[in-house]
Amino acid sequence: MQRDQSEVGNMEVLLSKLGESLDDFLTFKHDDALQSRSHWLEKLDTDMPEKGIGAEAVVQLLCDEVIPFGSPVPKPGFTSFITSGAVSVSAVAQTAASIASPQRNLLSAFHTLEEVSLNWLRDLCGLPQDMKGIYSSGGSVANLVALGGARQAAFEKIGVDPAADGFKQSTRIYASDQAHHTIKRSAGVLGLGRNSVMAVVTDQQGRIDPVVLEQHIIRDLEQNYLPVAIVANAGTTNTGSIDNLELLGKIAKKYDIWYHVDGAYGLPGILDNRVKDLYKGLELCDSAIVDPHKWLGAPVGVAATFVRDRGILHRAFTQEPADYLEGSASTSDVRHSLDDFGVPYFDFGVELSSPPRGVILWAMLKEIGATGMAERIKRHNDLARLVASEARKHDHLELLQEPTLSICCFRYTDPDIADLDELNSMIHRQLIFENEYLPSTTQVAGSLAIRPCFIGARTLEQHATGLVEAVLRIGKTIVDQ
Ligand SMILES: *Cc1c(COP(=O)(O)O)cnc(C)c1O
Repeated sequence: MQRDQSEVGNMEVLLSKLGESLDDFLTFKHDDALQSRSHWLEKLDTDMPEKGIGAEAVVQLLCDEVIPFGSPVPKPGFTSFITSGAVSVSAVAQTAASIASPQRNLLSAFHTLEEVSLNWLRDLCGLPQDMKGIYSSGGSVANLVALGGARQAAFEKIGVDPAADGFKQSTRIYASDQAHHTIKRSAGVLGLGRNSVMAVVTDQQGRIDPVVLEQHIIRDLEQNYLPVAIVANAGTTNTGSIDNLELLGKIAKKYDIWYHVDGAYGLPGILDNRVKDLYKGLELCDSAIVDPHKWLGAPVGVAATFVRDRGILHRAFTQEPADYLEGSASTSDVRHSLDDFGVPYFDFGVELSSPPRGVILWAMLKEIGATGMAERIKRHNDLARLVASEARKHDHLELLQEPTLSICCFRYTDPDIADLDELNSMIHRQLIFENEYLPSTTQVAGSLAIRPCFIGARTLEQHATGLVEAVLRIGKTIVDQ
């Protein structure tokens, strides 16, 4: 009998080979990938092979020529942007799903874990009990799905089904000038237009000004705009600020506007009792998102949207029943996993085929529990405070904003240097070249800030103290030159 040329088994051999190579990668003794770019470009950027080399040789190549030249994101000293490396069980769970349940729908154990873990995640993040979730690929899609629900709700109130029939009315989404730009893109995709997003000014701590927000709403209502949503930040991307969730929620209720909380990064911050009060008012939200692939240690590709009633997502995102889907499943006599698609996640968002993602959350929470997650969140919030306290203490450092969560914005200063932005930019370049401590930079109140964001499971106290020492050392060297 003729067999397929692809290896379709032998996982034990292939994965143990891979595991060895990944463990080696995780010692982080390798240089940055760009140091040897010509080497791997030559090996990898080749013509398409006419004949294959077989699975074991491919895994060998993966181990020798690809993995060692991977990304700095999982490094313990990496604190750039808001992204982190996967913890071990999350990567293993993802691999397991790719073989044992490629799709999230149909009644398998993996399908059950979607719902179980979404409910765990809701509880972990302090969201109301009546909320239900749906996974997607990231905060961008999660925001899109939430705002799709908001659009549906706003238009249904005026007797229009926007998803089915489209619309002509001008709309507004209220967000802050610190909101993630995916809010704008969501508005664009949803046909509201990126310019329908009103960037409300923020205070020194990066929080939306509620008085200004309410003025905008009143003016827009007079001009017949249809308000679609108020978007609050539970952890801005820039500095980790948390909007006054209670005040904004009350304004949303007062004007009967959908209240969305973008907690892609910061929602798990609620696990730290010292900042828990900042989340008061979260219970007023109509939708919220969180990215398990940020602080919780999932591989990139996992976000969740929560809403009160997934029916509204269904109306916003249904593809309408199809013969090749629902038509082929029997729901009257369910005796095989093929008989029922289960929860129709494919009609609550924008993905039909989708890997199960719940198993990833389930594995991470089973491994360390809510307590383990809370410990990580507290540790990282501590690290931001540690950097802040060093910055306050040291003559040559300046704290640019008090940390709310695990981001700390600071800079090197020297009375003899006129252009501190240029100096800090040079310090940052040198940090990156040294390849040990890898924060990013941002602007805070017009100044260039060095901005570590501590979220990686591998990131410990020495990576915060080491960063501060490195900034002081490099700053001094540059100034003394
Ligand atoms: C990271 C982030 C997003 C976007 O999420 P992705 O997973 O990168 O698509 C949206 N909002 C906030 C507040 C974020 O921090």
